[in-house]
Formats: sequence, structure tokens, C-alpha cells
Amino acid sequence: MTIELIKGDITTLAVDAIVNAANSSLLGGGGVDGAIHRKAGKALLEACIAIRNKQSGCATGNAVITTAGELPAKYVIHTVGPVWQGGQKGEEELLARCYRNSLALALDQGIKTIAFPNISTGIYHFPKKLAAAIAIQTIRDFNPRDAFERVVFICFDEENYSLYQTLLNQE
Ligand code: ADP
Repeated sequence: MTIELIKGDITTLAVDAIVNAANSSLLGGGGVDGAIHRKAGKALLEACIAIRNKQSGCATGNAVITTAGELPAKYVIHTVGPVWQGGQKGEEELLARCYRNSLALALDQGIKTIAFPNISTGIYHFPKKLAAAIAIQTIRDFNPRDAFERVVFICFDEENYSLYQTLLNQE
């Protein structure tokens, strides 16, 4: 498995799957979720509504998979990160679960290349450095690692990008 770091917009990536930092309604929101829905178009929203009707959305830490509509990726994996509430509400474990459950779903679909945004570090206010450390550790610990060819961390803001650069260079 190659871990790659990119600075930019996740909606431009032609990987097998991009991960969306969704909210539990699955109906789209702001931040990366809004950007993904805007570019993917109607097919994505309809797929999300179908899941919502079947299982009433997605709980924090869980993940669901849909078509990617008009995006260059093949699939979107929607995972719901925890809202940071000070760190005593299981936020760290819930964030790790987002990465783990997204990879597990991807594995089931035979996905080989997957890109993650910095889940929970926007509107949900998870501390960026802690979130980056959890994301990297959880990906590195995933078993079986070799199921994936490429795992991309895509950072939209400079602060996350430089945090990931530092952490990824520490073995
Ligand atoms: P959350 O509610 O999980 O905090 P946000 O979408 O607010 O989700 O933020 C998650 C991260 O996604 C933030 O670091 C933000 O900078 C980043 N982000 C926003 N737009 C994009 C995009 N188009 N591509 C990649 N990352 C993005």
C-alpha cells in the first residue's frame, strides 16, 4: 500500500473511491460534503435518499457507499465523523472507526485506490493535529494493508497539509 499526500480538491480525483465527510442525514451539507454533492449531481443525492429511506441515514463512525454520479471517481463512501465536544465523548475512537469502516467497505467492493479528506476537522472542529495522527495510524494499522494499491490523504487547507507532511515523514 502506498500512502500519498495531495493538497487540493477531492472532487477532482479519478480514484476508485473518494470518501465524503458526510452528516448523519446523508442529504448533503457544507464543506467537502457540499462540494461533492454539487459536482456529483442528482444521481448521488438520489442514492443517498435511497439509503436514508432504507436505514435512516448513517450513524457517527459508520460508512455507506454509493455511486459517484458525475464525479471522476467511481464510488463515494460517506462516513460521518464525530463532532468535537472536548474529547471525553469517544471522539478519537469514533474518528478511527470512520477510517476503518470506510476501508472495510472499500475492501468489500474490490476498491484499490481511495482518497480521504480530513474528516471532522472542518465544521465539526476536531483538533487537526490529533485528527491527522489518528487518520494516519488507523490507515497504517488496517489489516489487510495490501488490499489497497493507493491510499490518498487529500488536504484542502495548508495547515492540514503541513501537519500530514510532518507526520507522514515520521516513521
Ligand atoms: P466535517 O463536518 O467532518 O468537519 P468539513 O467538510 O467541514 O467536514 O471539513 C472536513 C475537511 O474537508 C476540512 O479539513 C476541509 O478543509 C476539507 N474540505 C473542504 N472542501 C474540500 C474539498 N473540496 N476537497 C477536499 N477537502 C475539502
